[in-house]
Amino acid sequence: MNKFIGAHVSAAGGVDKAPQRAADIGANAFALFTKNQRQWAAKALDPVIVENFKKECARLGFLPEQILPHDSYLINLGAPELEKLEKSRAAFIDEMERCRTLGLSQINFHPGSHLKKISEQECLERIADSINIAHRAVPDIVAVIENTAGQGSNLGWKFEHLSYIIDKVEDKSRVGVCLDTCHTFTAGYDLRTKEACEATFLEFSKVVGMHYLKAMHLNDSKVVLGGKVDRHHSLGRGEIGWECFEYIMRDPRFDAIPLILETIEPDIWKDEIQALRHFTQN
Ligand SMILES: [Zn+2]
Ligand SMILES: [Zn+2]
Repeated sequence: MNKFIGAHVSAAGGVDKAPQRAADIGANAFALFTKNQRQWAAKALDPVIVENFKKECARLGFLPEQILPHDSYLINLGAPELEKLEKSRAAFIDEMERCRTLGLSQINFHPGSHLKKISEQECLERIADSINIAHRAVPDIVAVIENTAGQGSNLGWKFEHLSYIIDKVEDKSRVGVCLDTCHTFTAGYDLRTKEACEATFLEFSKVVGMHYLKAMHLNDSKVVLGGKVDRHHSLGRGEIGWECFEYIMRDPRFDAIPLILETIEPDIWKDEIQALRHFTQN
């Protein structure tokens, strides 16, 4: 099995509950929040839960490269106001430390927003600085920047934004990208046909480089191409359609990285995973 396919599962009741939830839907990868994603503060991880998380991952066969933790939605690593920026950087370091405590290898995050108070370039530079600061504070963990839909003042929707940030990150071995298919599409990169996928990933490989692709979020989109709004849909039910997901499943460039569903009906994740896996088998 060279495709790591899963979903963003709940960590309710403790992060150690997440691996079984992933196994229950037939996943061999998963994403999770290691703390409440809508709150700044979090208690330190309970050592018993940490040990149990590691045991569960070992028992169910999840390696660190199959797990993609996601940081809190409150964090803005490009925040215009110093107080918010400092708070975000401290929270991001804490998130990275939690991942390291759990024996994980990477963290997925949204780059940041300029909130129309600073220029795009200034915001991108702050994001890169934030990554450098976190790298110095916490060893090993790879910072995986997610591309965005370009809603509001969120940066990271253009491949050029991602390459600009990566260019300013000192430790290139610890930075990468997670491409979300819904965000890519609503940011204006077509994915509806095989040919469109070829063109979009060629563009990504030229501007950023495929070797920086560390993960993907597989979501269909309720919003049209270039709509700049982030509204996920179940696979095949939105504006993108199955051809894109078949393309990704059949292409070895997407092997051995977490491919994570954030689609809107957790009840059918099992079916979506099975449908995706079917493409890899014939
Ligand atoms: Zn996503
Ligand atoms: Zn999204």
